[in-house]
Order: sequence, then structure tokens, then C-alpha cells
Amino acid sequence: MKKLSEQYIIDYLSSDTTLPSNIIGIGDDTAVIERDTNCELITKDLLIEDQHFRLRYGSPAQLARKALHVNLSDIAAMGGTPLAILLGLSIPLTLPLDYLTSFLTAFKEECNKANVHLIGGDTTHSPQGFIISITAIGQADKTHIKYRSGATEKNVLCLLGYAGDAHAGLLLLENNQPDCQPLKDAFLAPTALIEEGAWLGKQTAVTAMLDTSDGIYLDLKRLSAASQVGAILNIDTLPLSPSLSQASEALPVSPIECALIGGEDYGLLFTVQATELKALKESFSRHFNIPFTVIGVMTQQPGLVLQQNNKPFECHYQPFSHFHEEQ
Ligand code: ADP
Ligand code: MG
Repeated sequence: MKKLSEQYIIDYLSSDTTLPSNIIGIGDDTAVIERDTNCELITKDLLIEDQHFRLRYGSPAQLARKALHVNLSDIAAMGGTPLAILLGLSIPLTLPLDYLTSFLTAFKEECNKANVHLIGGDTTHSPQGFIISITAIGQADKTHIKYRSGATEKNVLCLLGYAGDAHAGLLLLENNQPDCQPLKDAFLAPTALIEEGAWLGKQTAVTAMLDTSDGIYLDLKRLSAASQVGAILNIDTLPLSPSLSQASEALPVSPIECALIGGEDYGLLFTVQATELKALKESFSRHFNIPFTVIGVMTQQPGLVLQQNNKPFECHYQPFSHFHEEQ
């Protein structure tokens, strides 16, 4: 029996469609339009009040940053550089004008900081809830684009950034827990790894990449499926931030659960040719100052195997899904 799921919709829309040979459509972090050696990268994300954010949890400036950076993260995940933004707003009459003005001011500032141009959008009334719909356009040299499908057996699986902070922050906010502000900020105002993504794009040793918007467990499944390889993920190596480790008492779930199935971290999950790993990691640390962690390896055998202390680890955690479908 057919059931509503995000995947059902994506599969339905992408089946039986033929695109011109220079356009790559549904299936990656962005669509790609090739023009000679230069490519345009195009992506869209929706933020819905009380589905993705609550007005009372953070400031309008934090919401503006999040709305922009969740889109920029997809461009970074392709190895590209963001160029322009279209901002769609659907506004309920209940939204205070001061809030909206602060949001708009911060949005323009964030665009300036990220060096992207706000080139258009659309504005409507919303019968319920504040809705933000952003289209981001980026660019990349054709040879620098990293797809989810490029990983091969024995490639090393790596993560940039910490895992689980944003989900922990959300749980703390939802449970009215005081303190732990860095975790709450990770959820409220994430930072896309824009320069890091563009740098990784230029590295031939990097074979596949995506951003961790839905948690490592689901995002790694997507990378593996697109590349038609399996993966072994070592739970012990997952990079937990000092803030997350310190907050474990206050959290209703373990930090490992946050790291595995918690979304919205916007780290970069990528695969590297094993022989090039050492040089790549050294070069990365000369340019940047965020955690670069080896968390697993890609395998010929399809499927995702989780290991803890070299023993199999059963993941009983249920990742978030919009329509409560099995993942
Ligand atoms: P991401 O988390 O990187 O933003 P998603 O998981 O949201 O990616 O989407 C996966 C792929 O499906 C993307 O290529 C996206 O463009 C496409 N997609 C999602 N929803 C729709 C839709 N309603 N119509 C067309 N394509 C969609
Ligand atoms: Mg993505």
C-alpha cells in the first residue's frame, strides 16, 4: 500500500523525467546546471513555524541566520560557493512588525557577511504560522563538484564539525532546561561550513559529500545508497563537543543518540581516498580550525554497519521523519 513519505514524493517526482544532459536534478544537495566548465548550483529549503522553529526560543536575528545558512550548507556540501538568494516569506498577521523588521535587517546583514546577493523572492499572507522559503544559487567549477554518488569501497568516511549539538539544543529548549546555551545556539543559529566546503570541493582526494541535515545515520545511508556501497560507522569515534558531553545529565537521550539521529548540525560528511587521507587532513588543519574526524570506512557489502568497541551496535533509535514513516 502506498504511504505518504518524503521519499515517496521525491521518487514520484523524479521517476519518468528526462532532463537535458547538462542538468542534474533531484537527488543531491543541490541541482546542477552545467554551462561549459562552470556550473550553477540551485537548492531550496523551507522553514515552517512550529515545525522547524518556535518564535519564543530564539531571536529574529538567529532565525534569519538559520534560514540563510541551512541553504548555504547545501551549496557547501556540493563543493561550491554561494552567489545569490531568493527569499520567500509567508507572514501571519499575528507576527509583530518589530519582529519582522529585525528579521529582515538581520537577513540582509547575514547575506552581506556570507557574501551572497539577495536578488528576489515573494511575499504573501500566511493563514497560520511564519513560513520562510529560500532558494539559494551557487557556482562551482565542474571538476570541483562533489556528488553523493562518488564514494567507492575502502574510501575513508570523515566528518567536519561536531555531531549532535543541534539536536541536544532542541531537546533542551523543548524541555525548558536552563543553561547549555552553546547547544541551544547550535540549533538556533547554525553556521554552514561555506569555506570548508569550497576547499573540499577543490581536493581530488574527496570522492563524495553531503551535509548532515538529518543526522549521520540517515545522511550516511543516503551517501551509501547513492554511491552503491556500504559503510562501517565507528560510534566511538563520533566527535562529541565538550558542551554535549557536559550536558548529558540534562538530556532525555544519550549524546550518542543525538549524534546519530539528531538533525540540523550542518556538518559535512564526506569520503576520501585512503592513500590521500593523511596529506588531506594535514593540509586541512593548516587552513581551518574545526574538527576533522575519521568516523568509518566504505565497504563493498551494501548496508550500514554500526560498531562500538569493534562490536556490532544495534541502532534502535528512530530518526525524525516529517510523515512518521519508517526510515
Ligand atoms: P537536503 O536535505 O540536502 O536539502 P532533501 O533530503 O531535502 O535534501 O531532498 C533530497 C532531494 O530531493 C534534493 O535533490 C531535493 O531537491 C529533492 N526534493 C525534495 N523535495 C522535493 C520536491 N517537493 N520537489 C522536487 N524535488 C524535491
Ligand atoms: Mg543537504
